[in-house]
Amino acid sequence: MNVLSEEHKLTIKAIREFVDQYVRPKARSIDKGEYPRQLLRQLGKMNLLASTLPQDVGGAGADTLTHILIVEELARASPSLATIMEVQSSMLAENLYHNGNKVHREEVVPKLASGEAVGAFTLSEPCCGSDAAAIVTRAEKRGGEWVINGTKTWITSGLYADYFLLFARTGSLEARHKAITAFLLRRSNCIETTPIEVMGVRGTGTAEVKLNDCRAGDDDVVGEVNGGWKIAMWGINMGRLNVGTIGLGIAEEAFYEAYSYAKKRVAFGKTIAEFQVIQHYLAEMYARVEMLRSFIYSTAKMKDSGDPNFPLYAQVAKLMGSRTAVDVVRLAVQIQGGYGYSKDSHLEMLYRDAKATEIYEGANEIILNTIYKFMREKIA
Ligand SMILES: Cc1cc2nc3c(=O)[nH]c(=O)nc-3n(C[C@H](O)[C@H](O)[C@H](O)COP(=O)(O)OP(=O)(O)OC[C@H]3O[C@@H](n4cnc5c(N)ncnc54)[C@H](O)[C@@H]3O)c2cc1C
Repeated sequence: MNVLSEEHKLTIKAIREFVDQYVRPKARSIDKGEYPRQLLRQLGKMNLLASTLPQDVGGAGADTLTHILIVEELARASPSLATIMEVQSSMLAENLYHNGNKVHREEVVPKLASGEAVGAFTLSEPCCGSDAAAIVTRAEKRGGEWVINGTKTWITSGLYADYFLLFARTGSLEARHKAITAFLLRRSNCIETTPIEVMGVRGTGTAEVKLNDCRAGDDDVVGEVNGGWKIAMWGINMGRLNVGTIGLGIAEEAFYEAYSYAKKRVAFGKTIAEFQVIQHYLAEMYARVEMLRSFIYSTAKMKDSGDPNFPLYAQVAKLMGSRTAVDVVRLAVQIQGGYGYSKDSHLEMLYRDAKATEIYEGANEIILNTIYKFMREKIA
């Protein structure tokens, strides 16, 4: 694509080499539950884990499109690793760099960007995922410190996190998002984590996180007291572009796997790629992948140019990226027939992983609500 500079092309080359050498051989063991901590450290060493951050805190001073290209390539081989990476970079490290205090920026961000420490974005609760403004985990001021109690669920990297960017209620339930504060908590004995078995994006350390009288100081508040919603949304808008990109990586990989299989598999005396129905499936898959790529890359550029439509386009990227992933990988499995349904096929894993992109970082029904809200403001 002509939006890619020579530097972008070099990034693609470097990350593809990394993925082929280190990620592809590990993808199935990650899918079986192995948390890829070493791969995070390797990405950190290459300054590719949180690449948009400045070099002095462990980034590469890169643009958002570079970050997106890295997420896309990781997702082709292991959507689990791409998921962990995007949470750690966009929702934690970059969020803390832009919205945290001096200690967060100078001490915690470099550890997250290097992969030395693991971070978890800790918002959803058993009561409330879509309706996150109704969370009930409480932080109460007692004797000059905050005391936090509650239960979080579905937390990516929760099982292994050293730092939790945690959202808790600091006012009335009726005040909804206006009474939520963000805290950065270090793992300690007051935090109890229990693994949750999931269908796809396995090996991401998904966990329930219980907070039992956790103590925090005012310095552990990220942003303003009762200003946590802004911190959550800062992470989530970029997160949604990331999830659309994970969808792009999954769809792209599924298309190439199915195309290569169709050209080799023989039935009724010819390759299945010679049947028009298979050609149409492949053409449809290709068209959807390329359309999505174009949209995702231009949305990444909008972020850096400060385009006010970025939040709207990030939602569209999430919606269309996740749908494309699910639809394209479904057709790809169909093209591989019985093999596509077996554990020997990479597509079997991608099919399960794709489904998660329609749910996490906002279920698609919520994304549609948000698109409608933005759209209504834009089109008077
Ligand atoms: C693999 C995985 C990883 C995750 N990682 C994290 C993480 O790191 N951090 C974190 O905080 N959370 C995480 N989540 C949680 C995720 O964000 C929530 O699952 C998601 O927001 C949906 O919330 P819920 O599961 O409570 O579903 P619910 O809110 O109960 O929704 C159930 C269904 O009802 C629909 N629905 C709800 N309200 C409306 C409405 N107003 N209009 C129309 N439809 C509606 C939803 O769209 C959905 O289809 C993760 C989830 C998964 C599956």
